[in-house]
Amino acid sequence: MTALAPGRPLFSDYHEIRVREGKRSGLTMAIAVHRTVDGRSLGGLRFEPYRTADDAILDVKRLARAMTFKAAVAGLRLGGGKGVIAAEPDSPPDAYHRRLALRDFAELVDSFGGQYITAQDAGTSEEDIGYMARFTDHVSGRPRAQGGSGDPSPYTAHGVEVAVRGSLRGQLEGRHVLVIGLGHVGSKLAVRLDAAGAELTVSDVDQHKRELADQLGARWLEPHQAMVAEADVLAPCALGGMLDHDSVANLHVSVVAGAANNQLASDSVADALRKRGVVWAPDFVVNAGGLIAVSDELHGFDSERVERSIERIGETLGEIYARAAAAGTNTLIAAQELAAERLGGLHDNDR
Ligand code: NAD
Repeated sequence: MTALAPGRPLFSDYHEIRVREGKRSGLTMAIAVHRTVDGRSLGGLRFEPYRTADDAILDVKRLARAMTFKAAVAGLRLGGGKGVIAAEPDSPPDAYHRRLALRDFAELVDSFGGQYITAQDAGTSEEDIGYMARFTDHVSGRPRAQGGSGDPSPYTAHGVEVAVRGSLRGQLEGRHVLVIGLGHVGSKLAVRLDAAGAELTVSDVDQHKRELADQLGARWLEPHQAMVAEADVLAPCALGGMLDHDSVANLHVSVVAGAANNQLASDSVADALRKRGVVWAPDFVVNAGGLIAVSDELHGFDSERVERSIERIGETLGEIYARAAAAGTNTLIAAQELAAERLGGLHDNDR
């Protein structure tokens, strides 16, 4: 088993980070390649407002490292990379300037010569990926009409359902699940859970999402109420950082398994969850369905192969829970150690 060096997070070094000011858009953009496997890394492009360039660089580094763990634990032959374009905090670009920024970013992707492959993430769409494909070959998650895997969120939602099922160690029927965030993934997850006979409580900051609650006959709560509601499972499907020491102290669920990236405000929250007897399914294991789909496109997309691979998320979680119990550690450490073992000598950085 790979031991975590005390005081130093596992894999804290990077293969390469490039930061540029887009020559057409003037926006700061960055790509971080954390690890490559067979000379490649993959991870989406975030096009979001950042207060400073340093905030954007910190984010891209954190996200690229998480992609290494996500790919390794999902058994994919890919390293972790990520891209960001930092939009101005109070003035989102209009359609014309947005395209200039995407073209600048596509050139930056191309400068890696295939070591970094970009895809969709927060603030980017399938259409954006299709647009960038005009300027670089190193994109994945193209629209279906262009032979790609399309929107990754149905695959991510499937993976979250598998994780919820696996974490409950049994049937979904009659179990009560709280879904917070009814966006691309959360709405599809809610539909899947409803079809499987789960009892649902749903929540979103956007009141328009109440419509889905009505359609499914689900209970609706405001987000601050949903975080403290009693249920079997909490499925966070909104933003990161929802689990901190305060919110964990007030949880009334036995399992947390959701799509949101970076759910823990800090790594120490994993211990707080364990001490409270809450099983936390590590986010980068649970939400790998989208990455599994997007990476499959690199070998010619086959949806059945993708679905089979997503079903294995349940076995992987079972292994993580068993390791955490045997070692008396939390599920974050157990999952990071499993990722490090699966990555093993595969990655190119040590060569
Ligand atoms: P999305 O933007 O489509 O949906 C997010 C939803 O959360 C929106 O409906 C928004 O109104 C709601 N929301 C925002 N803040 C909230 C809050 N404080 N409380 C309650 N609701 C809130 O995003 P998505 O694509 O569904 O992704 C959801 C999460 O899953 C993100 O963290 C994303 O990084 C992660 N993720 C998504 C995918 C994917 O395939 N889309 C893959 C892996 C991880």
